[in-house]
Amino acid sequence: MKAEILKLLREADGYVSGQQLCEKFGVSRTAVWKVIRQLQEEGYQVEAVRNKGYRIIDSPDVMTREELESLMQTRWAGQKIVYYDETDSTNLRIKQLGDEGAAHGTLAVADRQTAGRGRRGRSWESPAGSSIYMSILLRPQIPPDKAPMLTLVMACSVAEGLQDCAETYGYSGIKIKWPNDIIINGKKLVGILTEMSTQIDYINHVTVGVGINVNRTEFPEEIRETATSLRLECGRVVKRAPIIAAIMKRLEANYETFLETQDLSGLMERYSELLVNRDRDVLILSPEGSYPAHALGINEQGELLVRREDGSEEAVYAGEVSVRGVYGYV
Ligand code: ATP
Repeated sequence: MKAEILKLLREADGYVSGQQLCEKFGVSRTAVWKVIRQLQEEGYQVEAVRNKGYRIIDSPDVMTREELESLMQTRWAGQKIVYYDETDSTNLRIKQLGDEGAAHGTLAVADRQTAGRGRRGRSWESPAGSSIYMSILLRPQIPPDKAPMLTLVMACSVAEGLQDCAETYGYSGIKIKWPNDIIINGKKLVGILTEMSTQIDYINHVTVGVGINVNRTEFPEEIRETATSLRLECGRVVKRAPIIAAIMKRLEANYETFLETQDLSGLMERYSELLVNRDRDVLILSPEGSYPAHALGINEQGELLVRREDGSEEAVYAGEVSVRGVYGYV
């Protein structure tokens, strides 16, 4: 009931009377008052005015299930939420929930990860109280070789969701660094990690994890030059839950577009518009060595199209490589 009351207060234009809430939920005035008191204790500023009712003025920066449920505007993405104050890795939690039969769209959110991971065994720095660590469970009925494209579907959704919230806080310059990073003003803000559980020709489930530096102001030495947070970029504390809700809304729409063709033809243009590498000289770091190229955009399969120095064009597959700017990270 708490999430529903919160949602009602949020969506109301002005006050919601105690009577309305009692009738809607079939409970006593005391029961409604108790929930309002709980919300106030959790840091929500709910004003109570005699003869008018309740009105929400402000909410704290929390990512609890109730807070997220009250903000979610989706049919399936993030409709079932599992919240952890602390966990090893939200990707591991979602993989386990997937194995146990959890529904498509189940979302795990944590305030802190003790074993946050990146691509190819790298780690993702995950301290408490300042970032978003979340993973979603997807059950696409597509051949396994198409699943890596979901990383790009998520990258597009995260970039769009962050842009949707940009005006409120006054940050700008959100871009995608192919294939799976979101950057802002040249520094890394978000990492995305996609993992799947498959049979030979069949996907059991896919886990897409997202780490977003929201209010962090300190980074360890190794990433100080390349990492940043929304707060560092706009100078204000940014609320995490509305960002998660905005990303889920975009993801739901983009995922459905992806499924129609089982490739990125419907999202390619949007993705390429957001691509920081587009029309730039880049360094392709591959296991066979690195080489310079000029990035052109992505194709329907989510590969990066580049022109090499000898004029030949090729499509680079994300699995093996990282991309760098000629002079630095982007
Ligand atoms: P890149 O192309 O940036 O090398 P990647 O896509 O190969 O990245 P990811 O899996 O996205 O790698 O992210 C892991 C890397 O990101 C780590 O090796 C580290 O350098 C960097 N990193 C780790 N934690 C954070 C963080 N909280 N914010 C920004 N960067 C981070």
